[in-house]
Amino acid sequence: MSAEIIDGKAFAAKVRGQVAEHVARIKADHGITPGLAVVLVGEDPASQVYVRSKGKQTVEVGMNSYEHKLDADTSESDLLALIEKLNDDPAVHGILVQLPLPDHIDEDLVINSIDPAKDVDGFHISNVGLLGTGQKSMVPCTPLGCLMMLRDHHGSLSGMDAVVIGRSNIVGKPMAQLLLGDSCTVTIAHSRTKDLPDVVRRADIVVAAVGRAQMVPGAWIKPGATVIDVGINRIDKPEGGTRLVGDVDYESCAAVASAITPVPGGVGPMTIACLLANTLTATCRAHGLDEPQ
Ligand code: NDP
Repeated sequence: MSAEIIDGKAFAAKVRGQVAEHVARIKADHGITPGLAVVLVGEDPASQVYVRSKGKQTVEVGMNSYEHKLDADTSESDLLALIEKLNDDPAVHGILVQLPLPDHIDEDLVINSIDPAKDVDGFHISNVGLLGTGQKSMVPCTPLGCLMMLRDHHGSLSGMDAVVIGRSNIVGKPMAQLLLGDSCTVTIAHSRTKDLPDVVRRADIVVAAVGRAQMVPGAWIKPGATVIDVGINRIDKPEGGTRLVGDVDYESCAAVASAITPVPGGVGPMTIACLLANTLTATCRAHGLDEPQ
């Protein structure tokens, strides 16, 4: 068997197209331009790449992008003051603080200082609680992108066995909540899980969000399962240079699974598309307009 490749790049382009159409409509009908503020503290190279890419795609869908680049030694109180300003700014509908933050800044404090209505990353404790209780919330972008690809591929996920490997607040836990919301039977695995291969082998859906290059081999995958690979890991190539790989061993998993997301070109592009979709949703909610479906 050779798995169908779930093309996250193409799907993300479709989502961005839908967002752009909706943005054009609310601009024309209501004179409103959604605005996304991205705050970057320090010079982490990967974060700089993400922020640049987010800013570019924000503008491409017709939204305003506001980038705030702060020095690595910016104080916590200065960062909190900036967030307060953005919370009060009616032109800003979404606020994203790029993580990780430098060690001297309390990440939870900063995230929870964002107005939950503008928290397009969905990390604020209010949004976490709303998601956990099945209420309308801002949903974290990476798990939302994974869910959209799964729904698109399967239609209903009801009754499927799903295993999420990883229990981080930004991927693993919200992913599990979303799958539960779609009536999957969900197992969350982590570094202390016993017999991980046997746990994974039960799954109709495997979501790997670990941060360990090619950790999941095809031998762990139930034949016909769907594999969503969230991992982004850079490894050395034998011929020199580096390349990006996921948390699953793509070749061996693709030989057993019925569908799989590639790295790059799977979950990554969907994450930014969902950020734009969340910013549009926040804008519509702020102005009492119909939300995108
Ligand atoms: P974290 O480091 O926060 O969490 C990793 C999780 O994996 C932890 O829960 C950890 O368990 C678990 N884990 C570690 N080792 C093992 C193991 N040997 N067996 C089973 N579980 C293990 O990572 P993130 O959730 O932030 O990110 C995960 C991956 O996803 C990374 O590669 C990251 O780059 C990528 N990512 C990709 C995004 C995208 O847009 N495509 C967005 C966000 C992340 P424990 O809790 O016990 O320590």
